[in-house]
Parts: sequence; C-alpha cells; structure tokens
Amino acid sequence: MYSTVLQYLEKTALKYPDKTAFADIKESFTFYNLLLFSKKIGSFIAGIVKPNHPIVVYMDKRAYNILSFMGAAYAGCFYVPIDSQMPSERINLILDTLQPSMILYDDATAEKVNSISGSMLKYHYKTALEAEVNDDALAKIRLYSKNTDLLYVLFTSGSTGVPKGVTISHAAVIDFMDWICEKYHLDDTAALCNQAPFYFDASVPDIYIPLKTGATVFIPPKSYYTFPKKILQFIENNNINTLIWVPSALCNVVNCKAFEVCVPTSIKLVIFCGEVMPCKHLNIWRTYINNALYVNMYGPTEATYACMYYDIEREFADDEKLPLGKACENSEIFLLDDEDQLAQTGNIGEICISGQCLSQGYYNSPEKTSAAFMQNPVNTKWREIIYRTGDLAYKNETGEIIFAGRKDFQIKRLGHRIELGEIENAILSVSGVENACCVFHEKNSDIITVYTGKIDTNSLNDKIAEKLPQYMMPNKFVKLTSMPMNLNGKIDRVKIKKEYTEE
Ligand code: AMP
Repeated sequence: MYSTVLQYLEKTALKYPDKTAFADIKESFTFYNLLLFSKKIGSFIAGIVKPNHPIVVYMDKRAYNILSFMGAAYAGCFYVPIDSQMPSERINLILDTLQPSMILYDDATAEKVNSISGSMLKYHYKTALEAEVNDDALAKIRLYSKNTDLLYVLFTSGSTGVPKGVTISHAAVIDFMDWICEKYHLDDTAALCNQAPFYFDASVPDIYIPLKTGATVFIPPKSYYTFPKKILQFIENNNINTLIWVPSALCNVVNCKAFEVCVPTSIKLVIFCGEVMPCKHLNIWRTYINNALYVNMYGPTEATYACMYYDIEREFADDEKLPLGKACENSEIFLLDDEDQLAQTGNIGEICISGQCLSQGYYNSPEKTSAAFMQNPVNTKWREIIYRTGDLAYKNETGEIIFAGRKDFQIKRLGHRIELGEIENAILSVSGVENACCVFHEKNSDIITVYTGKIDTNSLNDKIAEKLPQYMMPNKFVKLTSMPMNLNGKIDRVKIKKEYTEE
C-alpha cells in the first residue's frame, strides 16, 4: 500500500504524461504538468511552512485548485479548500479553528483574502508556481512522511450540526480509492464530470480517481448545474462516462426535464451519495440511460466519502427505499440500539462505523472529537474507535442496511415514533412533486412540508392521505418555487426548519 497519494500522481504521470488529468472550460492540465506544478507549489510552501500545517486554498472552483492541493501534500502539509462563494461568516469560523500559516488564493478571491486580518501569509498561487522545484527538500519531507499524516481537512456542511473540521489522512483516501477503482473497474478510460465543490467530500473521488488511474475529470462551470440541459450537453460533448454526484443534482436534471433535450448515452456509471435518492427520480434516469450501473453510496465526511454501497440491479417502485447495502472493504458498520447493544435484524439502531476510512477527529476540537469518536461499546477487549453518525437504519432479512433517517429527524407525535424521511418518501412518489422536505414544529407538534412541483397543496394533501396513516399526515403544505439548498447542494433543512418552525 502506498503511504502518500503523491505516489499515485508520480506513477500516473510517468505512465500517461500527456493525458489530460483535469480540465475546466478555460484550462486543462496533463498529468506531467500536474506533477511539475504541484512540485513547484510544494517547494514554495516547503520553503516557508513546516510539514503538518494547514494550507488554506481559497479560490474559485477551477482545475488549477488541484495544483495547490497536491502542492500542500508535497510540502508535507494538508489542504483546506474554501470556495470563492462561501459566506464570510463561515470562512471566519474556519480560519479561527485552523489558524493557518498560509492562504493560497487566485484572482477571484484576491480582494477578499487581502481584507482578512491575522498573521497568516497570503500568496497568489501563481507566485507559488514561479518557484523552482527543490527535489532535495521534497525528498527530505517524503522521508519523514507517513500514511497517517493528514491530507486534507474539510468542514462539514452544518446539515448535521455546527460545521466541524474533519481531518482525513492519506491512508484513508488511499484505502478508499484502491477499493472503488477496483470494484467499479475505473481506469484511464474513465471520464468524469465533477459536480461537487472541492470543500465537500463528494468531490474526493473526482480528485483521486484520476491520480490513481489516469482518468480525466472535466470541471464544468457551476452555473451549468442550474441549467441541467447544458450539463447534459457538456457530458455528451466530452464523452463522459462516470458521474459521482449528490442526489439533488441528479434530481434537478429530472425536474428540469433535461433528458427531453439530450440523453448522453456515454454514461456508464452513476454513483450518488450524501442524501436520500428518491426512486421516482432514479427510475427516470434508468429509463433514459438504461445501460449504466447506478450505485447508492452512504457515508459522512468523517468516513472518507463512503463506507457503504449498494449496486442497483433490480427494479424499485417509485415509493420504495433504496438500501444503503453493505460495508465497503475495510469498513465495518454496526447498528447500536438505545442501550448501546447491537440492534437485532429489523430493529432500528444508530449507524456506527469503524475501519480505515475514519477521520482522526475534528481539527482543534478535542471535545467534539470525543463526543463522536469513541470506543466501540460492544468490544471490551481492545481499543477500537467507532464513529457515531447520528443516522438511523435497520438490517433487513437479506442483511442489507436500510436508511431510516437521522436521529434528529425522528419525532414523537401522538405517541408514535415517526421518521420525517418516511413522509418525504411518500410525498416524493406523488406525480407532480419535484422535491420535498418535512420539518417538525416541536411546540405545536406540527409537521410542515415544503415542496416544489406542479401539484397544488390541496391535491397533494388528498394524495398523501391515501398513502400515510393519519398520525403521519403533515399539518401544513407549503409550495415553493425552488427548494433552499445548502453550500454542498443538499436540501438546506436547517434553514427550512428555522423559517417554518421558529416564531
Ligand atoms: P456529509 O458529511 O455532509 O456528507 O453528510 C453525511 C450525511 O449525509 C450522513 O450522515 C447521512 O445523514 C446523509 N447521507 C449520506 N449518504 C446517504 C445516503 N446514501 N442516503 C441517505 N442519506 C445519506
């Protein structure tokens, strides 16, 4: 096993020097250039910052971001991506937690970076690119590096609480990449279309699959995702065969009827992760692109992109739930009940994860780390750290794990335990509904549903009454023209709850 992801890059640059690694619509980098420029940036950083320090990469999302990520790795440091469109409040929180020694920026963020106070050094990435490669310095750093060194820190979206800096090692990424590339036969023929921002771990496969295999990643402008017809055309024009997206982005293609304009038959593999993928939308993808493999992956940022997977190989009804499936190699999934015992088949428990995929905890936050990462309560014999996700699931008769919502979305109403996700699933299966989210008003015991789509609130109420028991019926339906989304492109439940349940 490799000890650093840079070994992927070095091997691939030797094998495919002239092949494109990353391309946006303005610029692209071959593997040779990626290696050379990363070493230049690495040599620049190494001349100033000691290994194992955070390097903030605050830029517009472009192909050149990867040079800085790998440059940080060459300097034995770890990168922390910040996007040009992140709100300043969030950026301040990240900088406060990190106390970084260096920020690399680009033209898009130059002004904002220069207005940040503090002692950190600020450099345009092009300044770093002017450095000569210092092979001796880089070799010395490599000599002392180990696979448990941090590769990156990503701040969680806050969809599951206050944002926290999740630390991820080289070993965790290497372990996952080795598995995913072998399992899905990803090699130099893979062409990916990046959707997720680099500060979100849904983009991790997009960054490391090319480094390991020689695949190419195309980075379309963010605005294309607001016009899914454009994105499908982009996919077709670039002969893209692999999508690793969040469900909301796939749903958007369906909701905008983009397939009526373009059906990119080059797509052979669609992996999604990060939230529930509604079967109604998935079925439309499967109708239009019917020779692709679709995979439901599950995992929090704390488990390096994904720790469970389910290959979709049978038909699913519009209102059925997709299983999360089973653990990826080198990961183990436990479902713990309220007494911290293993939940029996059919019984709901909290998803707990152990294995190589786990984060080393939250950066500069020992209390938050020990609250989420703890000794496996069912192992009293040796030290085994697990991560408690706050997600609920049960195992079915065939051993598949089925998602049952988040602990904090589980409500008690009229004496019944209800998963808000169950109600959303029923609503999403109704024709005329595009997107839906349910929130609970604890004080009034009211369930409020916000949704987008053509159907009016009364008709939706009637349709839902045919599907749900009375105690699960929402008290109120709010029709919106667009669903609030968080920075990661997932439904912004925190915002919706605030807006509809706080007086
Ligand atoms: P994040 O760390 O921002 O990627 O969010 C992780 C959370 O997303 C998990 O704890 C789950 O609540 C949710 N999630 C991830 N994958 C899935 C999935 N396949 N189905 C349902 N929820 C998911």
